[in-house]
Amino acid sequence: MNEEIQLLLELQGTDRERSELESQAKRLQARAARLERDLEEERAAVQAARQRLAELERASRLKNLEVDELDVHTRQYQKRLDEGIISFKEMEALRAKIATERDRMSAQEDEALAMMDAIDAARVDLSLAGERLVEQTARLMKEAEQVDREAEQVRQAIAARLAERAHIAARTRPHLLARYENLRTEFPDPVVLITNGSCSGCKLRVSGNTVERARNASDVITCENCSRILHVG
Ligand SMILES: [Zn+2]
Repeated sequence: MNEEIQLLLELQGTDRERSELESQAKRLQARAARLERDLEEERAAVQAARQRLAELERASRLKNLEVDELDVHTRQYQKRLDEGIISFKEMEALRAKIATERDRMSAQEDEALAMMDAIDAARVDLSLAGERLVEQTARLMKEAEQVDREAEQVRQAIAARLAERAHIAARTRPHLLARYENLRTEFPDPVVLITNGSCSGCKLRVSGNTVERARNASDVITCENCSRILHVG
């Protein structure tokens, strides 16, 4: 085979490997980002549980104040009733009021108790979310370290391909290298085989003359249609 084609094929080989490595690097980057997001979600879950608990505690305090207030009112009415220096009609009205206030207080007390239960449940939720965060942080960090290690290996492999490429490029004639680079901006495979009389890049037939010249390997031949560099293997 034409030695120059051989060099171009080697160049293409390192380029192909490098582009696979670059895709791998991108996948690793995406994995690292996902791990970061997962961790962020765990943190947000703890934050949400903490906020829910704080809101419930605040609502519970307000509810207790309401109950206390009702209690004070009821006691005041009761006191006036006990002192008995009011008319019978007023007494009747006070009794009705006291009954209403007691019903309200009873309902509010039930609500206050339900809130205490909700607070207990929210405390359990927060504690579970906290435990989960600790576990997940350990797991995700470990995985992230593994991803970092893999990414470092990939970076080194890419650097090795680039060094290899520079070495091959230095041995390639500049105008051929330029042609290859130019084709590479368009195709991932600038150098292709002629198979059954067709360019295996664009799949179109090439002329018999082209096949013949490629076979003689005295020069670098290109496809008449797509301009890829051809060889017969
Ligand atoms: Zn072609």
